[in-house]
Amino acid sequence: MELLKKRISQSGKVIGNNILKVDSFLNHQLDVELFQAIGREFQRRFADEKISKILTIEASGIGIACITAQYFHNVPVVFAKKFTAKNLNDDVYESKVYSYTKGVSYLIRVDKNYLQAEDNILIIDDFLANGQAVLGLLDLARQAGARVAGVGIVIEKSFQEGRELILKENVRLESLARIKSLEENKITFMD
Ligand code: 5GP
Repeated sequence: MELLKKRISQSGKVIGNNILKVDSFLNHQLDVELFQAIGREFQRRFADEKISKILTIEASGIGIACITAQYFHNVPVVFAKKFTAKNLNDDVYESKVYSYTKGVSYLIRVDKNYLQAEDNILIIDDFLANGQAVLGLLDLARQAGARVAGVGIVIEKSFQEGRELILKENVRLESLARIKSLEENKITFMD
């Protein structure tokens, strides 16, 4: 997606350990017009699927998922929670996710009322790095017996193993910008 790649080149900053900082439009300040273009592009790519629900993870996935949902017909967004909360039911699907960036594991949870076996789910997230967050979401969907139509990612760091791990699960993956390298503080795209 050229518009997105242009924005990453203009505003993205490479920080230590191959991390791309995109706080000015994706992760902190949110460029809603760009989100709309992202949402339309996800809809175009998954137009052949009858999506019944979008599944994401808090916090950065929520804004993108909500705007994307507006381009599908009557599709709710469900986000997996990373933190226990008093208002979260005990009856949940739960999966363990390891964060390489933070070096810790955490649990993600979704109330069983919000994922059903009849669902055809689109998983959306901001970044794909080592793939652990998306694998956790896939696990939640599969515990519910739902079908996963595919995974939509805004920025894929293609030099990490996430892409390979998702494709190994036989799940369709659509990434709007694929980054080949962040070496020497330079952002290089796959194509
Ligand atoms: P995973 O390694 O599980 O694919 O990535 C998990 C999460 O880490 C992503 O959803 C994203 O929030 C965060 N993340 C991974 N790499 C980057 C990065 O280079 N930049 C930013 N801003 N977030 C990242």
